Amino acid sequence: MYMKAAIVENHKNIIKNLEKPSLGEKKGAIVQVFGCGLCGSDIVKLKTGKAKNGTVLGHEIVGKIVEINSDTDFKLNDEIVSSHHIPCFNCEYCKNEHYSMCEHFKSTNIFPGGFSEYIYLSDEHLKNVAYKIPENLTYEEISFYEPLGCIVRAVKRADLNNKSTVLVIGLGSIGYLSGQAFNAIYNCKTFGCDLLEDRINLANSVGIESFNSADFEKSEQYIKEKTNGMGVDAVFMTSGSDKAIELALKTVRNGGKIVVFASTPNNMGYANNEIYYRELTVFGSYSPAPVDLKTSYELLKSEKVKVKNISTIYELDDVQKAFDDTVSNKIFKAYIKIKE
Ligand SMILES: [Zn+2]
Ligand SMILES: [Zn+2]
Repeated sequence: MYMKAAIVENHKNIIKNLEKPSLGEKKGAIVQVFGCGLCGSDIVKLKTGKAKNGTVLGHEIVGKIVEINSDTDFKLNDEIVSSHHIPCFNCEYCKNEHYSMCEHFKSTNIFPGGFSEYIYLSDEHLKNVAYKIPENLTYEEISFYEPLGCIVRAVKRADLNNKSTVLVIGLGSIGYLSGQAFNAIYNCKTFGCDLLEDRINLANSVGIESFNSADFEKSEQYIKEKTNGMGVDAVFMTSGSDKAIELALKTVRNGGKIVVFASTPNNMGYANNEIYYRELTVFGSYSPAPVDLKTSYELLKSEKVKVKNISTIYELDDVQKAFDDTVSNKIFKAYIKIKE
């Protein structure tokens, strides 16, 4: 039995027939994929060649169980959402809550990848990182479950409170979700900035006080005025531009935190002397633990984090166009619809 999938070939996605995954004697489930969100990391993997030829990208999947052999409560025809990696909970990394550094975490995945008609989900996925789709959300809305999970972990690691101030740099879909997650988790004061007016307006509409950061001096002034001359307690860095690092250093207060949540093309660093003399904390946060995914699921289900009407829907045949439109900022977030 064959199925359609998007296969990486020389930095492009090509639609081809692949063998449909089968359950055989294995535990787990075969899921018919309804759709899959396009993640910034898919774009980085394609561009850099980290995704080798033959890879199927996509991990923000939503679908229906069409075959199952599992001790969990999931049943045939359940409509589910799942993440792709699961930690071992046992190694030194896991014991220190750096789940996304765990070898088992890195080696687990959905098979072959989200941009295909069917995938195999292991029993471990079903036990730890899969949920039924809530009735109040559409498929593309619940597809934010995994990306929001990554954000929730980063937001929790920032360890703030309701008196804190935050600046989210970059108001693409990740910034838009992050600002809302800070508000939902801490009820703190959240600012946002970007260069694109429609993104600034969209963020303002969900309670992220947002402004245009084209001029760094003015941006610094604006933030200082709003924070008694101090600067924000934390900067959340979702921008993949090297230049934005300078803005982060200008707007964070002495003793503040910078959460690094995007890769930059030139592997630029934060200034050593700023970190030293200003007692800054700079840290990264990558991928979510099951507990963060649970929080993400709850934030989406309760609609505390709003994701209505922000996805642009593409057919599987047009997946490469979805990548191109995302790179050129033509759209906010792409969702690849694989089945009606
Ligand atoms: Zn992702
Ligand atoms: Zn581990």
